[in-house]
Amino acid sequence: MLLAYQYKLLPTYEQRCRMDKWLDMLRHQYNYLLAERFDWYERNRCSINACPLLCHLPKLKEPPNYYSQKRSLVPLKQEREWYKDIHAHVLQDMVKRVELAFARYLKGDSKANRSGKPRFKGKGRYRTFTFPQLSAQPFMGNRIALPKLGKVKLTQHRPIPDGFFIKTASVTKKPDGWYVQLVLEDVSVPDAPSINIVPTEANSMGVDAGLEYFVACSDGFTNESPKFLRKAEEKLAKLQVKFALRKKGSKACRKLGQRIGRLHQTIARTRRQWHFETAGELLDRADVLFVEDLKVSNLSCRCKPKQDEEGRFLANGQSAKSGLNKSFADAGVARFLNEILPYKAEKAGKQVIKVNPAGTSQHCAKCLKRVSKQLSDRWHSCPHCGVELPRDVHSGMLIKKVGLGVRLTIKRESRKAGEARALSVG
Ligand SMILES: [Zn+2]
Repeated sequence: MLLAYQYKLLPTYEQRCRMDKWLDMLRHQYNYLLAERFDWYERNRCSINACPLLCHLPKLKEPPNYYSQKRSLVPLKQEREWYKDIHAHVLQDMVKRVELAFARYLKGDSKANRSGKPRFKGKGRYRTFTFPQLSAQPFMGNRIALPKLGKVKLTQHRPIPDGFFIKTASVTKKPDGWYVQLVLEDVSVPDAPSINIVPTEANSMGVDAGLEYFVACSDGFTNESPKFLRKAEEKLAKLQVKFALRKKGSKACRKLGQRIGRLHQTIARTRRQWHFETAGELLDRADVLFVEDLKVSNLSCRCKPKQDEEGRFLANGQSAKSGLNKSFADAGVARFLNEILPYKAEKAGKQVIKVNPAGTSQHCAKCLKRVSKQLSDRWHSCPHCGVELPRDVHSGMLIKKVGLGVRLTIKRESRKAGEARALSVG
């Protein structure tokens, strides 16, 4: 079983300077190795199969890979002696980061989700270095022994659980100081077994990630988004206006930049804390939670432009959606549903099941007939069976029904049928 614990470091002035220097050197080398890879692709990406047989070809340069780049560290340390100051494993780990960034760009991760082109890291954008291994007993009182850096003081707010050993240690520079993240492993503890609870009407609950409410459940429980990001955003906006006016590179500018960084950090932490609390509340209410399978990329795409016959642009609902995008980003719904809730559920021995949300706002939860709604309609009232409910709670009920096996049929009017009718009316 793997765990990750984070502790705040309290380094001395010398240690801070040294770590800052390390980060800067690693960043330069990271950019250099990344450039080497891009360069190879720029020169050699054409397929050689198509060349005429008579033309002369220079010998192809081997593509730079993890091993060749790792070998290049040896001459680097001879030419630039200051790189000898960095621990060898830390340097090698930087090469691995180049490799990973490039692999995610070309091949994608295990689910074949490709990331964008890796970027060169500017000053202050390279914040973490990793020791792939530590000594068996790195803790000495309130200090941790990090190779080459010596004993670094830390706030040990919780002990390492018995039987776990430290796999890796990553040191990160954050706006409010330095942190060390330890990955702990105990091979004797098995990973959590996959849980299979049969969902029934009684032990399950549908959860709708709403707009008016952060979550709305099929049993009527609702939880409002605290909107701290909006409030903090106003504060942030004021600071950023001020920031733009300050002279670049001045001390005042730097100080303000630090303040803005800390504000971002506070917001992220408060939100995360609140997400965990909400997840706990939800899991107390049922054993199986049905949530909608939310795709972040679908949420933030723009609405299609609408035009009338003369080519004038009509309202297409984008402005309403812009507000929607913002509140979604605000509450971090996707992260809550995809990461935090499943994580908490696994720990609690409960289950989260994803459900296709298509049509869950356009049907009646009681009679399953189609009831069309606009984004602005906050109330569900069914003309067929007379059900009256708040929209989000109703969606939660419908998600539960879908989770329990009800199929919704969404009848979309085909274009031909629509045109035929328009003709017959005309
Ligand atoms: Zn109905």
